[in-house]
Amino acid sequence: MIQDIAPQVFHNEYEHKMPQEGDLLFAFRGREVLTRAAADGHLEFPQALQASAAALQYLFRIDGRSFFLSLSETQLQIPGFGYEKTALLRQTDPQDLCFAGMTAYHLYVWYRDNRFCGRCGHETEIYDSERALRCPECGNIIYPKIAPAVIVGVTDGSRIVMTRYAGREYKGTALIAGFCEIGESAEGTVRREVMEEVGLKVTDIRYYKSQPWGFDSNLLLGYFCRVEGSLTIHRDEGELAVAEWVERAEIDRTPNHLSLTAEMIACFRDHPELF
Ligand SMILES: [Zn+2]
Repeated sequence: MIQDIAPQVFHNEYEHKMPQEGDLLFAFRGREVLTRAAADGHLEFPQALQASAAALQYLFRIDGRSFFLSLSETQLQIPGFGYEKTALLRQTDPQDLCFAGMTAYHLYVWYRDNRFCGRCGHETEIYDSERALRCPECGNIIYPKIAPAVIVGVTDGSRIVMTRYAGREYKGTALIAGFCEIGESAEGTVRREVMEEVGLKVTDIRYYKSQPWGFDSNLLLGYFCRVEGSLTIHRDEGELAVAEWVERAEIDRTPNHLSLTAEMIACFRDHPELF
């Protein structure tokens, strides 16, 4: 999955750091990132030393390389680089840069959207002892927003429910998915989302794995479950373009190894003994 970058190690402890030679910079503009394609097609990102240190925020490091975010109020421009869609980050190789870019985007959205205190409206400032913003007027401390959501593999023997979402940029095959609502357990979200999206009642809900997904500020929680009662799908036509039972033997092999969804589909296909 996207976060699996071993043997490299992701360090997200909050530290005070200044850019060093080799450290990289992420600058975003809406859903775009400052980058360029190298001669071999791989994406390159600016060196942190190419920008003014005053407007840089340390984010995290992977092994010995640190990553910084531009918090400049004017749009950062660096010769030779341009703003491209963040979707390109998903194709970034090596994978640690893909993961770094996604996580930097998560933090960018949070910093951007919390420049002012939601309690009193005063401008916030960087809190210097942990990853947070602080309001100097009322003392409100704001931590990064992480939105939990579930990915659900609904199975019936050798079949699994596969979906395609309506009206979204992503056109690939998916599983049932949805955000956890206030007051709800993750298992409760699984039961509710499956009922809302395909009209099935489920049982035997089993946790699989989780995945940070910074493109949408998510922490994704993967579950498998079985149907209890009727196997007839009643699709939510507003949400889903397709929802159908797919036999294990009909599931294509996919080169996409980044998403929890892809790994769960591959797990169902390759490990019949688990279901
Ligand atoms: Zn305040």
